[in-house]
Amino acid sequence: MSLPALVEPAAELTTDEVRRYSRHLIIPDVGMTGQKRLKNAKVLVIGAGGLGSPALLYLAAAGVGTLGIAEFDEVDESNLQRQIIHGQSDIGKSKAISAKESIAETNPLVNVIVHDERLDNDNVLEIFKDYDLIVDGTDNFATRYMVNDAAYFLNKPYVWGSIYRFDGQASVFWPTLEGADAPCYRCLYPEPPPPGMVPSCAEGGVLGVLCASIGSIQVNEAIKLLTGIGDPAVGKLVIYDALELEWRTLKVRKDPNCALCGENATVTELIDYETFCGAVSEEASEAAAGSTISVTQLESMLKERDEGTRDFVLVDVREQNEYEINKIPGSVLIPKGDFLNGHVFDQLSQDKPVVLHCKTGVRSAEALAVLKGAGFSDAVHVGGGVVAWVNQIDPSQPSY
Ligand SMILES: [Zn+2]
Repeated sequence: MSLPALVEPAAELTTDEVRRYSRHLIIPDVGMTGQKRLKNAKVLVIGAGGLGSPALLYLAAAGVGTLGIAEFDEVDESNLQRQIIHGQSDIGKSKAISAKESIAETNPLVNVIVHDERLDNDNVLEIFKDYDLIVDGTDNFATRYMVNDAAYFLNKPYVWGSIYRFDGQASVFWPTLEGADAPCYRCLYPEPPPPGMVPSCAEGGVLGVLCASIGSIQVNEAIKLLTGIGDPAVGKLVIYDALELEWRTLKVRKDPNCALCGENATVTELIDYETFCGAVSEEASEAAAGSTISVTQLESMLKERDEGTRDFVLVDVREQNEYEINKIPGSVLIPKGDFLNGHVFDQLSQDKPVVLHCKTGVRSAEALAVLKGAGFSDAVHVGGGVVAWVNQIDPSQPSY
């Protein structure tokens, strides 16, 4: 269904603006009025990362008058494979500032507002309230549920996108929209996945160009909503498979039992999203309590093992392709899946103490819970994983 434009048109375009936006102005559906609406629009982009990079650049180029950037992180070398708003000389710089500088180069007419802080329950409503819509480029579930709920409480359209490896999804959530069967993110995903079940892009990887595919879909939807053209993806879930080059669109309906937008809503204010999503499962955090060693401890244990005064097995529970990027010397690879399906017990015995590690310590804590449950009472895992090893012990290895 088509919707009325979200934004009233600005009074006029300057001569410079008419020249700059001429390719929009000659599309009848956009035209002068549509471009004036974009000029008056205020869009908040959460994250200047994989999705936020193309989203910010295209929103700026399109002539969205005010762009907010909510981002607190710094540019890292591993971002540059996909976060095209940043460049080599931005490494170490605030992502929000780096993004602001790139936008100024793309379109100096855009007013950029930097929110250089972590979004949380204390600031999210205050930051959202002045924007017409929210474009979400976050990569974690806790923030996503918070953004969904805050957008609902403030009656703002929420343009959502998500990417992982070769797969992308996008939709527009606007459950307060009248006369429409418009779901929210919780209608689609009532519960976050169990901790550790769905790896983040940092853990699982993402094809860089996928960010452009999904980020540009989000901008497309934002422009349609702001100017009132086309049929926005309200109640539609767009699924993209980059390997098969297939786009699918599924209808998603409002869930009458939704905890947020349903008839008997139980979420009536912002909740504790970290607890709701849980960084580590209960079993894993119980197993890790008192059974976590540091990389420095591991280093001296490995020395003793080399000298023959100590014996243990060091198991890396990541995947093969991660193991090829970097590793702790003397480790053997048994991916976490083998712990969950029990195959690990063909490869490990209780004769020797076992030390587990992964990338950051989340997966190894889960694997540790499996071992403890099977009676490996002296098994431990390495807090911070191979990332901490590279940072603190062996900076000569690459990180990811
Ligand atoms: Zn809902």
